[in-house]
Amino acid sequence: MKRTVILSLALCLALAGCAGPAAPAASSGPAGAASAESAAAAAPAGAVRWLDESDGGCRYTLELPVNNRDYDNQYSVLIATDYAARAQRPVCGRAGCAHDSPDCGAWLRRAMGVDAIGADGGRLFLCYGQGGLLESGDAAADAELAAWYAANEGAAVAHVEVVEPDGSRRRLAEIPELDSSEAGSLRLLAVDDASLYLLQHSTADPYDAQDDTHALLAVDLATGALTTLTRWEDRPYHDIVMAKGRSLYALDYDLPEGESSVRGGQLERFDLDSRRWAGSISWENEIGPDTSEGLPGAGNFVGLCGGTGGRCLLRQDQFTGTLASLDPDTGAETVLCRNLPAAAPDTRTSWQCGVLASWYTVQVRDADGTYRLFLVPRAGGEAAEVTQRQYVSARGTEPIYLWDEWQGEFFCHVDFIETPFQDIDKDGTLYHGTRVEDVLALLPAADLLAGSTDYIPIRDRAGCTP
Ligand SMILES: [Zn+2]
Repeated sequence: MKRTVILSLALCLALAGCAGPAAPAASSGPAGAASAESAAAAAPAGAVRWLDESDGGCRYTLELPVNNRDYDNQYSVLIATDYAARAQRPVCGRAGCAHDSPDCGAWLRRAMGVDAIGADGGRLFLCYGQGGLLESGDAAADAELAAWYAANEGAAVAHVEVVEPDGSRRRLAEIPELDSSEAGSLRLLAVDDASLYLLQHSTADPYDAQDDTHALLAVDLATGALTTLTRWEDRPYHDIVMAKGRSLYALDYDLPEGESSVRGGQLERFDLDSRRWAGSISWENEIGPDTSEGLPGAGNFVGLCGGTGGRCLLRQDQFTGTLASLDPDTGAETVLCRNLPAAAPDTRTSWQCGVLASWYTVQVRDADGTYRLFLVPRAGGEAAEVTQRQYVSARGTEPIYLWDEWQGEFFCHVDFIETPFQDIDKDGTLYHGTRVEDVLALLPAADLLAGSTDYIPIRDRAGCTP
């Protein structure tokens, strides 16, 4: 039952035909009048906000009930980790609900293919992507899923749902059903006060990205109406990666065919009010000679970094241990710190950077394979090392993981608890396994920087694990 999707040619033409009004032409009247008009039209929508799984002191995840033995009723529960309450809770507004049936606001059928959760001020967007129906390889499971879709007409269509702060849920928009031999996917990008923005990707050949099509879609939050803002083809690496003001930005890497190192890149700005591409910045990278293992050596390059604090471009100079941020509109670089561990030119190192509310995180992997974690203030200042570590099976110790930052506290992953168990599977066969649980906690920034391990525990989701 391989279900694949793409815009049909007729639909492409229809959408291209209504791809938004042209920007006010410079010659259509006094320039001042044109810009005043577009400013007035833009004002109600407000600034566009990049979506991820955290917002307003909560992180939202889909959790599988650990002891659900009902194989015909596999489901997940939408859980909020509430930092102020130091606890997890299901996103359900029903009094006395057991959170184990489809009439619960937090209940989601496991196989329904929620690709992404976007949190925005207490409201959630759930994106059901077009790739969710590809066959799993398990004939019995695919047959069961096909039967379920047949009995629940409409569930299979790629769509977006909204979960309101009171836990009520409604379908906001359906993405047109597509049919051909091509495959597609749908991604949540960003939201403003008027619209939700999605990126639709379709391909005729999963092994050749050259003919891929991308479309930037806007969904009206009040009516669910769908508009294609722009589309592009033959640019497989051209991807929308960040939001700022009234603009979305697309990143394109310069990766010559047959080479393994990215030579540079460019960031192009899409203006949501004029619905036009409106300027770009570009940069060059410097990658050192390959190491003796044949892997790329240390470099001085610009990388896209993201996290619960948004997305940005950072220049990572591993030769000198310098981190700098790039302004997405001007390309101007601002040095943040110069004291990260530098790498010798002929050694391999890697930096993995993340963005939190007021800090950048930089995980450095040394040439000997040791991981170290540093915090760099968003406003600039010396990098400080995070010394708290956790044991990771088969890899030894690694720094704790910082998921989020809210009101001066870090939300951290501080340990794994491994519990052996035995159970009987669907066919009646006894099997052994290891259950791995994440240990999550909060730690105030001052304590984290002082090396404290006085973690504030997060209470588990009592009441929603059958
Ligand atoms: Zn419930």
